[in-house]
Amino acid sequence: MKDTREIAAPSKTRDILAKHGFTFKKSLGQNFLTEPNILRKIVETAGIDTTTNVIEVGPGIGALTEQLAKNAAEVLAFEIDDRLIPVLEDTLAAYNNVTILHQDVLKANLETVADHFQEEYPIKVVANLPYYITTPIMMHFLESKLPVAEMVVMMQKEVADRISAKPGTKAYGSLSIAVQYFMEAKLAFIVPKTVFVPQPNVDSAILKLTRRTTPAVTVTSEKEFFKLTKASFQLRRKTLWNNLLHSYGKDDATKEWLTNSLATAEIDPKRRGETLSLEEFARLSNALENSRPS
Ligand code: SAM
Repeated sequence: MKDTREIAAPSKTRDILAKHGFTFKKSLGQNFLTEPNILRKIVETAGIDTTTNVIEVGPGIGALTEQLAKNAAEVLAFEIDDRLIPVLEDTLAAYNNVTILHQDVLKANLETVADHFQEEYPIKVVANLPYYITTPIMMHFLESKLPVAEMVVMMQKEVADRISAKPGTKAYGSLSIAVQYFMEAKLAFIVPKTVFVPQPNVDSAILKLTRRTTPAVTVTSEKEFFKLTKASFQLRRKTLWNNLLHSYGKDDATKEWLTNSLATAEIDPKRRGETLSLEEFARLSNALENSRPS
């Protein structure tokens, strides 16, 4: 009789793991989803149809990949673990619109990835991310030239909170700014830790990121803007002024440059980094660039 169970069905996942003698590698962030309804909700949140190209990071045994393949035009998935390649060939044999790349996604040249797709449909990144490298993966995609329209990604809830945080909150920091500069960030829903094998220690969340047509703020230099935002959160409980001295230097010329730029941007140096909006950081960054000592 034909096996109609979805890969994520707990009994099917168990059978696949047993058939291939697969053992989890904690060091690769392997926590597999075993709840088909959550996978369907992820696909729905990402708005995937036959005119969407999808990139997945870490397909595991193919639970999410299967749902993506059923709905998308094409799916391209990066998997680092060589032991999973034959498993995926087996579990996804019925789908001819899936390509598995046996590669570390962080080493992949994302600019050329779009060449794999047959049609020039919008590209969406949909993934249950390996948690030990969530931030590097997010930044790898955001900083690449690959035109990603949307990312619907699962990560530890605490990281999702930091990425989507608003100014003035405890979770707000340079990561919130780095992502929100490019994308609009919204926490879509929470996923309890009980639906994974093996079960992680913390709950997860699905974050939906939608590419802005232009970055959230206009800056003279992106590099200097991100340097400033990083510098402003280095010493968490200190004022903006102390953080700036710590990163830019304490000599008289630098102090004068910083004082004048803060005045031009109308920002009180006694404020803390976490109270500044993206607009305020952009104003300060542009003021610093316009008066940089030669
Ligand atoms: N998508 C599956 C699911 O939802 O059940 C598995 C998700 S599991 C959290 C993360 C997956 O990412 C694992 O399959 C792991 O081997 C893979 N992985 C870890 N580091 C990776 C990397 N640098 N590049 C590509 N895949 C990676």
